[in-house]
Amino acid sequence: MKKVNMKLFNRSIILIFSIILIFSNSNGQYSKDSIQIRRIFDMALENGTAYKNLKSLCKDVGHRFSGTKQADSAVNWGYNLLKSMWTDTVYKLPVMVPNWKRGNIERAYIFHDDTKLNISSLGGSVGTKKRIKAKLVVANGIEDLERLGEKNIRGKIVLFNKAFDPKTINVFETYGACVGQRYSGASKAAEYGAVGVLVRSMTLQNDNHPHTGSMSYTNKNHMIPAAAISTEHAELLVEKLREKPNLNLVMKMNCKLLPDVLSYNVIAEIKGETEPESVITIGGHLDSWDLGEGAHDDGAGIVHCIEVLNLIKANGYRPKHTIRVVLFMNEENGGKGGQEYANWVKTRGEKQIMALESDAGGHTPRGFSISAPDSIFDKIASFKPLLEPYGCHLFKKSTWGGGVDINPLKLDSTLSINPNMILMGFIPDSHRYFDYHHAETDVFENVNKRELELGAGAIGSIVYLIDKYF
Ligand SMILES: [Zn+2]
Repeated sequence: MKKVNMKLFNRSIILIFSIILIFSNSNGQYSKDSIQIRRIFDMALENGTAYKNLKSLCKDVGHRFSGTKQADSAVNWGYNLLKSMWTDTVYKLPVMVPNWKRGNIERAYIFHDDTKLNISSLGGSVGTKKRIKAKLVVANGIEDLERLGEKNIRGKIVLFNKAFDPKTINVFETYGACVGQRYSGASKAAEYGAVGVLVRSMTLQNDNHPHTGSMSYTNKNHMIPAAAISTEHAELLVEKLREKPNLNLVMKMNCKLLPDVLSYNVIAEIKGETEPESVITIGGHLDSWDLGEGAHDDGAGIVHCIEVLNLIKANGYRPKHTIRVVLFMNEENGGKGGQEYANWVKTRGEKQIMALESDAGGHTPRGFSISAPDSIFDKIASFKPLLEPYGCHLFKKSTWGGGVDINPLKLDSTLSINPNMILMGFIPDSHRYFDYHHAETDVFENVNKRELELGAGAIGSIVYLIDKYF
């Protein structure tokens, strides 16, 4: 009898606490926030400008590879657009960027039957001078070079054919596991005496579009040419090699690296109402590869962040901290814009509350990766119920940071004067991102209006919450 009473008593206590919690959540601070977040999403979905801006960036400017005229046009595009908005300041931060030229020749074919292969030189690669004619050897990633050994590699072209693992749910993870062969494959293969490399495109798709990307040399005295090959043609080569193990491959490319040129990050601010000296940075990268229109990568991120200014304004909300949008230059083949921005922040002795980067495409938002001390992470995680109705409530702890362009703000501890600074990466759905990534298919038509707008709403909401509660 006594036992039962205790149970009842305990249950009553739990019930009372639950009621108090529900009451405070629905009638306290949270309910005001949920109304504000509802407004942000309503605005993004009903009167948003992200999709229109993306169309203009993709169709009026087009691709905008660092060091090109189109990159200059993109800088002006961003500057003029931000000027036309309700920003307090808009300026261009000068930055020197690499100037790699693709050239007009990139060819590869099988010598004996003239089978043409779809390739695209990797950014940073040297050309072939005349042409390379050599036998082929297939490596399943960099880790396979040692097994093959110098006797199988010397004098040959290496086909790096490590494929994305379809079983990996987050496609960025399988990209991470394969991209080493693209970035460092040429240098590693050169150590074993290779004369050139082809790299299987970084995609789950079996199609005929080469996906380019950056690469780099560790030994500047021994640089061999490198190109991406479409997944379909990588498979074809493997098949042909099985039939004819001694087949010769011909590669011809005339890409080259010229001295650095001047470009700009575009920066716009809304001054904070009560703490204008503390800054929340949000941004994406303005440059893109030269094959498509850089729609998902990273036009989506650019228009997401620009839209946040509209979403805040439409709600009549005056941010406490300065909200700064940065359109970074040269993320794709150097990351110079991000480094320059971090140096600039350091020179100004600014306190950064948070930096958020959107550079994972314009698909349906899922949430955010967060790099911050545990207590700060827990506080952000308490926002979860507010974003749950919109399906973007994944808060994932990250040790890596938030993105290539914002990581320099914190990873070099001498740069950050705020040890509690938050680095945040926007996480959209990853399943289709690599269908388009760095390929000619990354065009405006492959971005869905509603998904893009939901992304802007998600970023607008988290910026609002961080501004209010930090
Ligand atoms: Zn990108």
